[in-house]
Amino acid sequence: MSPLRKPPRVGVLSLQGDFACHRGALESLGAEAVRVTLSRDLEGVEALVMPGGESTTMLRLLAATGLRAPVEAFVRARPVLGTCAGLILLGRPQGSQGLPAPPFAVLDVAVERNAYGRQIDSFHEDLDVPVVGARFHGVFIRAPRITQVGKGVEVIARRDAEREVVGVRAGHVVGLCFHPELTSDLRLHRWFLTEVAKLDLPSGAAAERAPAAAAPWSRS
Ligand code: GLN
Repeated sequence: MSPLRKPPRVGVLSLQGDFACHRGALESLGAEAVRVTLSRDLEGVEALVMPGGESTTMLRLLAATGLRAPVEAFVRARPVLGTCAGLILLGRPQGSQGLPAPPFAVLDVAVERNAYGRQIDSFHEDLDVPVVGARFHGVFIRAPRITQVGKGVEVIARRDAEREVVGVRAGHVVGLCFHPELTSDLRLHRWFLTEVAKLDLPSGAAAERAPAAAAPWSRS
């Protein structure tokens, strides 16, 4: 990116969940991370991140704030990365699963909420993620499971156990069952911004950043 070009503007849906961690990752990569809480925040945004958190709460807040229609229009047309609850919002409806409104259905995958158990059953492990070169540490917190992958959806991440699918891409839409934003490894965010969203990042952008002060999955 030329020094005169502005950094890309990347929105982070910031109604609930771990949006601050995504903003930190995007800023470490030299992007301008924009908090999206109102529809006008989407102006000039070139890609959007939908964070992990609680999908039921996010759907309620999307309806209450009037953000649902503009966010839905954005994710139909523009690059979006959904992690965990964000993935649930992008997937196709599978019964109600306790959701107060249907998900956006821009990713042709069936997603089962809380499929690995309760919060205490959260885990982390190395995954096979060829789009970033090899292994990537996956943090799964009361994570959803991808139970069906539609035609035309590319698998981008698998667990070693039974080669289970935990990351997918369909064109401009990426969904992950785990949380790259809770590690110091920026490779998946960088891949999303440069390869999926086709954005230019400043050439000196970091490869890593400081890890989160307290790992959210630690029990101490
Ligand atoms: N269990 C949450 C949900 O159903 C997702 C958890 C997460 O985002 N880490 O929304």
